[in-house]
Amino acid sequence: MKTLDTLAFDNRFAGLGDGFSTHILPEPIAEPRLVVVSDSALALLDLAPHEAQREVFAELFSGNQLWSDAEPRAMVYSGHQFGGYSPRLGDGRGLLLGEVLNDAGEHWDLHLKGAGMTPYSRMGDGRAVLRSSIREFLASEALHALGIPSSRALCVTSSSTPVWREKQETAAMLVRLAPSHVRFGHFEYFYYTRQHDQLKQLADYVIEHHYPACLEQPQPYAALLKAVLERTAEMVARWQAYGFCHGVMNTDNMSILGITFDFGPYAFLDDFDAKHICNHSDDTGRYSFSNQVPIAHWNLSALAQALTPLVEVDTLRETLDLFLPIYQAHYQDLMRKRLGFTSAEDGDEELVQRLLTLMQAGKATDYSLFFRHLGDQTPAEALKVVRNDFVDLQGFDAWGADYLARLDREGFEQSERQARMHAVNPLYVLRNYLAQEAIAAAEAGDYEPVRELHQVLTRPFDEQPGKQHYAQRPPDWGKHLSISCSS
Ligand code: AMP
Ligand code: MG
Repeated sequence: MKTLDTLAFDNRFAGLGDGFSTHILPEPIAEPRLVVVSDSALALLDLAPHEAQREVFAELFSGNQLWSDAEPRAMVYSGHQFGGYSPRLGDGRGLLLGEVLNDAGEHWDLHLKGAGMTPYSRMGDGRAVLRSSIREFLASEALHALGIPSSRALCVTSSSTPVWREKQETAAMLVRLAPSHVRFGHFEYFYYTRQHDQLKQLADYVIEHHYPACLEQPQPYAALLKAVLERTAEMVARWQAYGFCHGVMNTDNMSILGITFDFGPYAFLDDFDAKHICNHSDDTGRYSFSNQVPIAHWNLSALAQALTPLVEVDTLRETLDLFLPIYQAHYQDLMRKRLGFTSAEDGDEELVQRLLTLMQAGKATDYSLFFRHLGDQTPAEALKVVRNDFVDLQGFDAWGADYLARLDREGFEQSERQARMHAVNPLYVLRNYLAQEAIAAAEAGDYEPVRELHQVLTRPFDEQPGKQHYAQRPPDWGKHLSISCSS
């Protein structure tokens, strides 16, 4: 175990030099107060929960104090935003404080989001507001608990520093943890500025530290694209299976590690709607729920384009062609598990598609609770309960009969099937309205609701006594809340 005073740093990315990032100190926020902390994220740094109770904790994670071995850097990257290329983005309101080396030999980037202006701030103020910091904190930890690869969140710190958005708000800081903060957009930056030596250096760096197995392949850079593609396909399959809408899948928000990254106006689906658009600024629905699959492929093509100085185009094309089959295999596997199947049958894909079509027709089926309730009782009883949310009752009954027949062929005990289904179908999901309620309380100075919601979401599959409120369907006002990008 470590303490805040004995954290060990090994700043590898900083070692790449000034062509890749710029040294800059965080700009502190006033009267820092710890809003919420994740014990399991603390454990990644070998820190015990009580370390967060020390006064110095909020000081360190609000930019008011700095470890002598930390080496704060703002990274440069670019990226495609809503399909158009932005030649220079970079850490405009965040800093890589340093890389913590834990006792298990893992490196964890400590990223301070909301740390003030950097050379990449463009028109922005370098700040993050309390609501967006809480939203990212809750989402990171909730996705992780659901088994969806994600960056992690250590804590949120609030302040009295004013920030102007649509109205006056207060600045906050979020500490994000990830094994790397390299994005697709890092590669695009060096490609489009024709810095091909740096592009190669970056690819070598990522391979050495994050994809060492690629070195054993005849073409390591092609192998890198394949490995990133495999992880991205699996991540998106998990999003689709669990109804998670990212909302801003720009290439600068795509992690080279295939983890969910840069949370903005995300949403978990309440009522199932494949066309759901969670980002208020997304007029054309480019990042709608069902578009996430082709967009992930598009983003991988943008990464492949950036790798053209290192790999033959035909090889890149062949690699990109692997995306859909890999995605489908993961997605179908997850949906089979959600439906309680332990084996694969030919008709499964069609059964899933028919179910989603029936849900789409009614737009009144709570996506998460449908699967949860399906495992609650005997299948025949469960079908009677969930049936009420469909409009095409004939169609649903026909589906239900096929589903029962399919389950019969599996032939498991009810209790065993129920335990298996409950272990993959969450009772508690981070609904936008739950986040909004907790944020409203935090903005009024009460952090308890955020902490409680976070606690509940760390065990999404376990029924928790007294927490029924979090397992309800959203009230009408809470459905389809549209969140803007201004964070
Ligand atoms: P995002 O929409 O959060 O992915 O950010 C896109 C780009 O805008 C990144 O380069 C951010 O660093 C930058 N950015 C977003 N908000 C701010 C802000 N308040 N101040 C400075 N830069 C920002
Ligand atoms: Mg971003």
